[in-house]
Formats: sequence, structure tokens, C-alpha cells
Amino acid sequence: MKGHAVSTTLHPTQSLMDITARPDAVFVRGEGSWLTDHRGRRHLDFVQGWAVNTLGHCPPQIARALADQATKLITPSPAFYNEPSLQLAGLLTRHSCFDRVFFCNSGGEANEGAIKLARKWGALHKDGAYGIITFDDGFHGRTLATMSASGKAGWDKLFEPKVPGFAKATLNDIASVEALIDSNTAAVMLEPVQGEAGVVPATIEFMRDLYALTRKHGLLLIFDEIQTGMGRSGHLFAYQHYGVEPDIMTLGKGIGGGVPLAALLAKEAVSCFAHGDQGGTFNGNPLMTAVGVAVLQAVLAPGFLDYVRDTGAHLSHRLSGLAAEFGMPGERGLGLLRALKLATPDGARIVEEARLLQPVGLLINAPRPHLLRFMPSLTVTKVEIDRMIELLREALTAVQSQARAA
Ligand SMILES: *Cc1c(COP(=O)(O)O)cnc(C)c1O
Repeated sequence: MKGHAVSTTLHPTQSLMDITARPDAVFVRGEGSWLTDHRGRRHLDFVQGWAVNTLGHCPPQIARALADQATKLITPSPAFYNEPSLQLAGLLTRHSCFDRVFFCNSGGEANEGAIKLARKWGALHKDGAYGIITFDDGFHGRTLATMSASGKAGWDKLFEPKVPGFAKATLNDIASVEALIDSNTAAVMLEPVQGEAGVVPATIEFMRDLYALTRKHGLLLIFDEIQTGMGRSGHLFAYQHYGVEPDIMTLGKGIGGGVPLAALLAKEAVSCFAHGDQGGTFNGNPLMTAVGVAVLQAVLAPGFLDYVRDTGAHLSHRLSGLAAEFGMPGERGLGLLRALKLATPDGARIVEEARLLQPVGLLINAPRPHLLRFMPSLTVTKVEIDRMIELLREALTAVQSQARAA
């Protein structure tokens, strides 16, 4: 069927390009962990804009930052300095191992920038080397280059020809990386925790070996922290969990707390763009970077990351309990980015069942048929986590009994 007919809204849906199957509801209000649709139905939201709403739906800090900045200056042009972007860049460099920041509007754009920066660095310092080793099942975005860098099954045949120069290694297999290094290699790029692949963390041992390998061969190490950055892992950035410093890092999703904002960060020695190499009309505009400042200040507040680690441990504990109860293989993740491994490939049915629960629905995501993913706001409470577990138990029970009846 092309386009869902949402019956009770004045606005038909068929004017939008039909790029994904959307449920028959229009979302009209959000508050904290709750999302309300056009029928007034409430949903407990453990998707949060796809790990985007760091402080939940419509937090007062963001509403205030937008309103204040909108009355002062919305955009002067990326060719002029503006206050919020300078403030946010200063905060990011002060609280990370990086020296320079380039702001952009989406994760894919930040990764495009990282790829360009690595190629520029290779041209200047590695005799024109442009190869970037990336990973099977990795996800880096939907532009042509970031699709080529991704290792998503099926994508290798889409939108041919691919952008060349992205050999694929296997996560947590250091020999698979070493085998791909040649004179054309400039960098290795990966997600510390593969998100779209189903929340698959790199091991600490693999990361340390990978760091050593890149130092030995003089390669750049690029971390895509679009999903893991900004506190989601329980650390401000996941690289801190691994105890290795990448040369380049990208941020997206949570950095804007719900508004389009992303960033490319690099160490001084690697920040080799010349004037004209990189830019973009909306990049670093004060309206969005003012929101970024508000979000980062909240995440940097004393106790915030302790809270994420504590609620992340609670979510992990409750998911493990549910796994034991239903005979499922278990759970995994870092901080408040977690996945539950299912015994059967019923992910999509469980997501649907959970959304339709009465009287309130539960929003979760199944990145793979055997897996459910949880990416609540970083301000989620233990009471909300317990409520989520109750709702999920209901959905799992319903799907189980349907399976028995069939
Ligand atoms: C979401 C995501 C991206 C792409 O970000 P967009 O803002 O959708 O372009 C890239 N890398 C990772 C790890 C992501 O999770």
C-alpha cells in the first residue's frame, strides 16, 4: 500500500515521499518520556527520535534556548563568527581530546566531512593515500560516500557506482583490519558501539589493539560517535570508556537534543582543511548551536553522567531479568544504549504489539529481527524504566500466545 491513510487528520499523507512504513498515527505533542498522537493516545517513548532527544521531549532548556536565540540572531552566514557556535566549540574542545570543531546539520554530513578530512590528510601526508578501512554491519549515513563507508547488508548493490576506497573489516577481529592495510590506507573508521547493527560494542582489547595498529602504520583513527556520544554511553564520549584517543570524531543525534545539529572534531595536527575545502550554508548557525550549548551544559552538570550510568545499569538489570523470564539469550550495550536479544525473529511483531498496547503504547525499535533496541532519553527515570518493562512483558506475552495459537 502506498502511504497510510490517517483517518482523523485534515492532512493526507500521500504528499510525502513514501520512504518508510509509518504507523497510522500523527504525533502532535511530546513531554519527557511521553509522546501523544492526534487521537490523544499516549506512548512511553524508548526511541526518542532515534537516540536524539538527550533531555527527553520538549525540555525547558531547549525551548528557552530556541526562543531566546530566535529573538537575537537566527543566522548571520557561515562566513561570519557567531557567539553560540564559538561557545559550543569551546565547550566541546575543553571537554574532549580534540582541538578543532566543524559544525554541520546531520550525522551523515559530519561523516562526509570526516572522510574528506582523512582524504585531505592522506593527500598531504601519506602520498595521496585515500583508503579508509570501515566495518561490516557498520552504519555511517545515507549520503553516497557514507553509504559506501557503511557495511549494511544489501547496500552494496544500491545506487551504483559506489564511492571507492572503503575496504571492510570485521569488528573485534584485529587480524581482519591488519590484512586490509596497504600503501593506499589513510584511516580506519568505526562506531565504538555499532548502533544500527544491533548495539554491538567493540571490545576494550580490540580498541586498544586497533589504536596501536593505527599508530604503528601512521593511520588516522576515526570514531563515529553520532549514536554513542553526548553521554549516551555513560561517559561524555564513548572513546573515554575505551581509554583510547581517536584523531577524528563525529557527533550528531544527541548533540542537538532534537534539533538538526552535528559536528566534526579533530586534533590540531589533522585539521588540514584549506579555505574552500569545507563549508555549508546552515553550518554552525546560532539557532542550533545555542541549543547545543544548552544540551551540553545539562550533560556536563555535576552528577548527570553518574545518573546515566546508574539508570543504564538499572535498564540492563531489568532487561536481563526479562530475558531470564522469557528464555531469551540476554541483553547488551553501554549506558543507555541497550539491546535485548530475542529467542525468535519476532522483533517487528513485538514492536507493533507494544505500540498498540492499551491504554498506553510503548515505542521501541527492532534494528534486527532477533533484537530490540532501547534508546530512552538520558533523563529517563527508574520508574519509567520499570513501566517500560511491564509494557514490554505484556507485548512479549501477547506475541508468545499468538505464536502458540498459530
Ligand atoms: C544516525 C547515524 C548516522 C547518520 O546520521 P544522520 O543524522 O541520520 O545523517 C551516522 N552514524 C551513526 C553511528 C548513526 O547512528
